[in-house]
Amino acid sequence: MKPIIAVHGGAGNISEAARPRRGEIIGQALEAGWDILRRGGRALDAVVAAVKVLEDAPEFNAGRGSSLTRAGTVEMDAGMMDGATLNVGAVARVQRVANPIVLAQRVLEASPHILLVAEGAETFAAEQGIPLVDPEYLITEERRQRLARVLAKEKTQGVGDTVGAVALDVNGHVAAATSTGGLMGKIPGRVGDSPLVGCGFYADDALGACSTTGIGEHIARSLLAYRAVAALETLHVEEAARHALTFMEQRVGHEAGLLLLSRDGRITAVWDTRHMSYGYHTEDTRYILG
Ligand code: ASP
Repeated sequence: MKPIIAVHGGAGNISEAARPRRGEIIGQALEAGWDILRRGGRALDAVVAAVKVLEDAPEFNAGRGSSLTRAGTVEMDAGMMDGATLNVGAVARVQRVANPIVLAQRVLEASPHILLVAEGAETFAAEQGIPLVDPEYLITEERRQRLARVLAKEKTQGVGDTVGAVALDVNGHVAAATSTGGLMGKIPGRVGDSPLVGCGFYADDALGACSTTGIGEHIARSLLAYRAVAALETLHVEEAARHALTFMEQRVGHEAGLLLLSRDGRITAVWDTRHMSYGYHTEDTRYILG
Protein backbone atom coordinates (compact mmCIF):
# COMPACT_ATOMS: atom_id res chain seq x y z
CA MET A 1 0.00 0.00 0.00
CA LYS A 2 1.31 3.48 -0.88
CA PRO A 3 1.30 5.60 2.28
CA ILE A 4 -0.15 9.09 2.55
CA ILE A 5 -0.43 11.70 5.30
CA ALA A 6 -2.79 14.68 5.13
CA VAL A 7 -3.29 17.46 7.66
CA HIS A 8 -5.60 20.44 8.05
CA GLY A 9 -5.37 23.69 9.94
CA GLY A 10 -9.05 24.35 10.36
CA ALA A 11 -12.01 25.78 8.48
CA GLY A 12 -12.81 29.43 9.08
CA ASN A 13 -12.35 33.01 8.09
CA ILE A 14 -8.60 32.93 7.47
CA SER A 15 -6.96 36.11 6.20
CA GLU A 16 -4.80 36.07 3.06
CA ALA A 17 -1.92 37.52 5.07
CA ALA A 18 -1.84 34.58 7.47
CA ARG A 19 -1.73 31.90 4.78
CA PRO A 20 1.99 31.73 3.84
CA ARG A 21 3.04 31.15 7.46
CA ARG A 22 0.27 28.59 7.94
CA GLY A 23 1.48 26.83 4.80
CA GLU A 24 5.00 26.62 6.22
CA ILE A 25 3.81 25.00 9.44
CA ILE A 26 1.54 22.61 7.56
CA GLY A 27 4.64 21.62 5.57
CA GLN A 28 6.50 20.88 8.82
CA ALA A 29 3.57 18.81 10.11
CA LEU A 30 3.47 16.82 6.86
CA GLU A 31 7.22 16.16 7.11
CA ALA A 32 6.86 14.89 10.69
CA GLY A 33 4.12 12.46 9.67
CA TRP A 34 5.73 11.46 6.39
CA ASP A 35 9.02 10.68 8.08
CA ILE A 36 7.24 7.96 10.07
CA LEU A 37 5.26 6.55 7.14
CA ARG A 38 8.18 6.36 4.69
CA ARG A 39 10.10 4.20 7.15
CA GLY A 40 7.16 1.79 7.37
CA GLY A 41 5.78 3.29 10.61
CA ARG A 42 2.18 3.25 11.75
CA ALA A 43 -0.56 5.63 10.55
CA LEU A 44 -1.44 6.03 14.24
CA ASP A 45 2.00 7.44 15.07
CA ALA A 46 2.10 9.57 11.91
CA VAL A 47 -1.12 11.46 12.69
CA VAL A 48 0.04 12.15 16.25
CA ALA A 49 3.46 13.40 15.09
CA ALA A 50 1.81 15.72 12.55
CA VAL A 51 -0.82 17.08 14.94
CA LYS A 52 1.85 17.66 17.62
CA VAL A 53 3.68 20.06 15.26
CA LEU A 54 0.44 21.98 14.72
CA GLU A 55 -0.34 22.05 18.45
CA ASP A 56 3.09 23.55 19.14
CA ALA A 57 2.54 26.36 16.61
CA PRO A 58 0.76 29.34 18.25
CA GLU A 59 -0.79 30.20 14.86
CA PHE A 60 -3.22 27.29 15.26
CA ASN A 61 -6.07 26.76 17.70
CA ALA A 62 -4.69 23.71 19.52
CA GLY A 63 -2.11 23.33 22.26
CA ARG A 64 -0.23 26.63 22.63
CA GLY A 65 -2.30 29.37 20.96
CA SER A 66 -5.63 27.71 21.72
CA SER A 67 -8.82 29.73 21.61
CA LEU A 68 -9.99 31.01 25.00
CA THR A 69 -13.18 30.57 26.96
CA ARG A 70 -15.16 33.69 27.77
CA ALA A 71 -13.34 33.61 31.12
CA GLY A 72 -10.00 33.89 29.31
CA THR A 73 -8.90 30.33 30.10
CA VAL A 74 -7.73 27.51 27.83
CA GLU A 75 -9.76 24.29 27.70
CA MET A 76 -8.60 21.86 25.04
CA ASP A 77 -10.14 18.78 23.42
CA ALA A 78 -8.46 16.12 21.26
CA GLY A 79 -9.30 12.69 19.92
CA MET A 80 -7.97 9.97 17.67
CA MET A 81 -8.92 6.59 16.20
CA ASP A 82 -7.08 3.52 14.97
CA GLY A 83 -8.74 2.15 11.82
CA ALA A 84 -7.25 -1.30 12.36
CA THR A 85 -8.80 -1.97 15.77
CA LEU A 86 -11.49 0.76 15.92
CA ASN A 87 -9.88 1.74 19.19
CA VAL A 88 -10.33 5.35 20.31
CA GLY A 89 -8.46 7.70 22.64
CA ALA A 90 -9.67 11.18 23.53
CA VAL A 91 -9.38 13.91 26.15
CA ALA A 92 -11.62 16.88 26.88
CA ARG A 93 -11.34 20.09 28.86
CA VAL A 94 -7.63 19.68 29.59
CA GLN A 95 -5.85 22.82 30.75
CA ARG A 96 -2.31 21.83 31.66
CA VAL A 97 -1.10 19.59 28.83
CA ALA A 98 1.02 21.07 26.01
CA ASN A 99 0.07 18.32 23.55
CA PRO A 100 -3.44 16.95 24.13
CA ILE A 101 -3.08 14.61 21.12
CA VAL A 102 -0.14 12.86 22.79
CA LEU A 103 -2.31 12.34 25.85
CA ALA A 104 -5.17 11.07 23.65
CA GLN A 105 -2.80 8.45 22.23
CA ARG A 106 -1.92 7.37 25.78
CA VAL A 107 -5.65 7.01 26.53
CA LEU A 108 -5.97 4.85 23.41
CA GLU A 109 -2.94 2.68 24.08
CA ALA A 110 -2.47 2.65 27.84
CA SER A 111 -5.97 2.87 29.34
CA PRO A 112 -9.10 0.72 29.11
CA HIS A 113 -11.17 3.86 28.32
CA ILE A 114 -11.90 6.00 25.26
CA LEU A 115 -12.34 9.47 26.80
CA LEU A 116 -10.88 11.14 29.89
CA VAL A 117 -11.79 14.68 30.94
CA ALA A 118 -10.47 17.57 33.01
CA GLU A 119 -8.53 16.83 36.22
CA GLY A 120 -8.81 13.06 35.73
CA ALA A 121 -7.18 13.35 32.32
CA GLU A 122 -4.39 15.49 33.77
CA THR A 123 -3.74 13.06 36.62
CA PHE A 124 -3.54 10.27 34.04
CA ALA A 125 -1.11 12.41 32.00
CA ALA A 126 1.18 12.79 35.01
CA GLU A 127 0.98 9.03 35.68
CA GLN A 128 2.02 8.43 32.08
CA GLY A 129 5.05 10.68 32.45
CA ILE A 130 3.57 13.52 30.40
CA PRO A 131 4.68 16.78 32.07
CA LEU A 132 1.98 19.23 33.17
CA VAL A 133 2.53 22.84 32.09
CA ASP A 134 1.48 26.19 33.51
CA PRO A 135 -1.84 27.08 31.78
CA GLU A 136 -0.37 30.54 31.08
CA TYR A 137 2.12 28.92 28.68
CA LEU A 138 -0.79 27.96 26.40
CA ILE A 139 -2.23 31.49 26.22
CA THR A 140 -0.95 33.92 23.58
CA GLU A 141 -1.46 37.68 23.40
CA GLU A 142 -2.94 37.30 19.91
CA ARG A 143 -5.72 35.04 21.26
CA ARG A 144 -6.36 37.42 24.17
CA GLN A 145 -6.95 40.21 21.70
CA ARG A 146 -9.21 38.05 19.56
CA LEU A 147 -11.26 37.11 22.61
CA ALA A 148 -11.70 40.78 23.45
CA ARG A 149 -13.03 41.38 19.92
CA VAL A 150 -15.42 38.43 20.12
CA LEU A 151 -16.70 39.54 23.55
CA ALA A 152 -17.10 43.15 22.39
CA LYS A 153 -19.40 41.96 19.62
CA GLU A 154 -21.16 39.79 22.17
CA LYS A 155 -20.56 36.79 19.98
CA THR A 156 -20.08 33.49 21.74
CA GLN A 157 -18.56 31.70 18.80
CA GLY A 158 -15.38 32.11 16.83
CA VAL A 159 -14.51 29.17 14.63
CA GLY A 160 -11.14 28.40 13.07
CA ASP A 161 -7.58 27.11 13.22
CA THR A 162 -8.42 23.71 14.71
CA VAL A 163 -6.02 21.03 13.52
CA GLY A 164 -6.23 17.43 12.39
CA ALA A 165 -4.62 14.66 10.38
CA VAL A 166 -5.46 11.43 8.57
CA ALA A 167 -3.01 8.83 7.33
CA LEU A 168 -2.68 5.51 5.52
CA ASP A 169 0.40 3.39 6.22
CA VAL A 170 2.27 0.81 4.20
CA ASN A 171 0.29 -1.99 5.88
CA GLY A 172 -3.04 -0.53 4.77
CA HIS A 173 -4.01 0.81 8.19
CA VAL A 174 -5.66 4.22 8.53
CA ALA A 175 -5.88 6.63 11.48
CA ALA A 176 -7.44 10.01 12.24
CA ALA A 177 -6.64 12.68 14.84
CA THR A 178 -8.12 16.08 15.75
CA SER A 179 -7.07 18.68 18.34
CA THR A 180 -8.60 22.03 19.31
CA GLY A 181 -8.98 24.79 21.84
CA GLY A 182 -12.63 24.90 20.76
CA LEU A 183 -14.70 27.95 19.92
CA MET A 184 -13.38 31.36 20.93
CA GLY A 185 -15.51 32.81 23.73
CA LYS A 186 -17.13 29.47 24.61
CA ILE A 187 -18.74 28.95 28.01
CA PRO A 188 -16.24 27.30 30.39
CA GLY A 189 -17.02 23.58 30.54
CA ARG A 190 -18.23 23.39 26.96
CA VAL A 191 -16.96 20.38 25.03
CA GLY A 192 -17.19 20.35 21.25
CA ASP A 193 -17.09 17.68 18.57
CA SER A 194 -13.32 17.21 18.42
CA PRO A 195 -12.97 14.58 21.22
CA LEU A 196 -16.18 12.78 20.20
CA VAL A 197 -15.79 9.68 18.05
CA GLY A 198 -17.74 9.88 14.80
CA CYS A 199 -18.03 13.66 15.16
CA GLY A 200 -14.53 15.17 15.19
CA PHE A 201 -12.76 12.10 13.84
CA TYR A 202 -13.34 8.56 12.61
CA ALA A 203 -11.20 5.81 11.06
CA ASP A 204 -11.96 2.33 9.76
CA ASP A 205 -9.50 0.31 7.67
CA ALA A 206 -12.42 -1.05 5.64
CA LEU A 207 -13.38 2.44 4.41
CA GLY A 208 -11.07 5.35 5.31
CA ALA A 209 -10.45 8.12 7.81
CA CYS A 210 -11.77 11.62 8.50
CA SER A 211 -10.96 14.68 10.65
CA THR A 212 -13.46 17.53 10.89
CA THR A 213 -13.41 21.20 11.87
CA GLY A 214 -15.98 23.97 12.32
CA ILE A 215 -18.85 24.65 14.68
CA GLY A 216 -18.76 21.63 16.97
CA GLU A 217 -22.43 21.81 17.83
CA HIS A 218 -23.30 21.41 14.13
CA ILE A 219 -20.66 18.75 13.48
CA ALA A 220 -21.66 16.61 16.45
CA ARG A 221 -25.37 16.70 15.69
CA SER A 222 -24.71 15.42 12.17
CA LEU A 223 -22.05 12.82 13.14
CA LEU A 224 -20.00 14.43 10.40
CA ALA A 225 -16.83 12.30 10.47
CA TYR A 226 -18.70 9.00 10.68
CA ARG A 227 -21.16 10.10 8.00
CA ALA A 228 -18.33 10.93 5.59
CA VAL A 229 -16.43 7.68 6.22
CA ALA A 230 -19.62 5.56 6.01
CA ALA A 231 -20.47 7.18 2.66
CA LEU A 232 -17.21 5.78 1.24
CA GLU A 233 -18.98 2.45 1.10
CA THR A 234 -20.83 3.59 -2.01
CA LEU A 235 -19.39 6.96 -3.06
CA HIS A 236 -16.10 8.25 -4.42
CA VAL A 237 -14.09 10.23 -1.85
CA GLU A 238 -15.13 13.70 -3.12
CA GLU A 239 -18.79 12.75 -3.33
CA ALA A 240 -18.69 11.15 0.12
CA ALA A 241 -17.20 14.29 1.69
CA ARG A 242 -19.71 16.53 -0.08
CA HIS A 243 -22.59 14.24 0.89
CA ALA A 244 -21.71 14.48 4.61
CA LEU A 245 -21.26 18.27 4.55
CA THR A 246 -24.51 18.76 2.61
CA PHE A 247 -26.41 16.65 5.16
CA MET A 248 -25.11 18.89 7.95
CA GLU A 249 -25.99 22.07 6.08
CA GLN A 250 -29.49 20.92 5.20
CA ARG A 251 -30.42 19.41 8.54
CA VAL A 252 -28.41 21.31 11.15
CA GLY A 253 -26.41 24.35 10.01
CA HIS A 254 -23.32 25.65 8.25
CA GLU A 255 -19.68 26.42 9.05
CA ALA A 256 -17.57 23.30 8.89
CA GLY A 257 -15.01 21.47 6.83
CA LEU A 258 -13.59 17.99 6.68
CA LEU A 259 -10.55 16.11 5.48
CA LEU A 260 -11.40 12.67 4.10
CA LEU A 261 -9.09 9.80 3.13
CA SER A 262 -10.26 6.64 1.39
CA ARG A 263 -8.66 3.28 2.14
CA ASP A 264 -7.03 3.30 -1.31
CA GLY A 265 -5.21 6.56 -0.51
CA ARG A 266 -7.37 9.21 -2.16
CA ILE A 267 -7.75 12.46 -0.29
CA THR A 268 -10.13 15.41 -0.39
CA ALA A 269 -11.01 18.45 1.70
CA VAL A 270 -14.35 20.24 1.54
CA TRP A 271 -15.56 23.25 3.52
CA ASP A 272 -18.36 25.81 3.54
CA THR A 273 -16.47 28.51 5.45
CA ARG A 274 -14.41 31.15 3.66
CA HIS A 275 -11.29 29.01 3.74
CA MET A 276 -9.69 25.83 5.03
CA SER A 277 -5.94 25.18 5.17
CA TYR A 278 -4.74 21.68 4.37
CA GLY A 279 -2.05 19.64 2.68
CA TYR A 280 -0.92 16.12 1.91
CA HIS A 281 2.27 14.19 1.30
CA THR A 282 2.81 10.98 -0.68
CA GLU A 283 5.93 9.43 -2.15
CA ASP A 284 5.70 11.62 -5.23
CA THR A 285 3.36 14.50 -4.38
CA ARG A 286 3.37 17.29 -1.83
CA TYR A 287 0.46 19.71 -1.89
CA ILE A 288 -0.15 22.58 0.54
CA LEU A 289 -2.93 25.16 0.69
CA GLY A 290 -1.91 27.57 3.45
N1 ASP B 1 -14.76 21.99 15.99
C1 ASP B 1 -14.13 22.80 16.99
C2 ASP B 1 -15.07 22.90 18.18
O1 ASP B 1 -16.24 23.14 17.97
C3 ASP B 1 -13.75 24.17 16.55
C4 ASP B 1 -13.07 24.28 15.21
O2 ASP B 1 -12.99 23.33 14.45
O3 ASP B 1 -12.57 25.39 14.90
O4 ASP B 1 -14.63 22.82 19.29
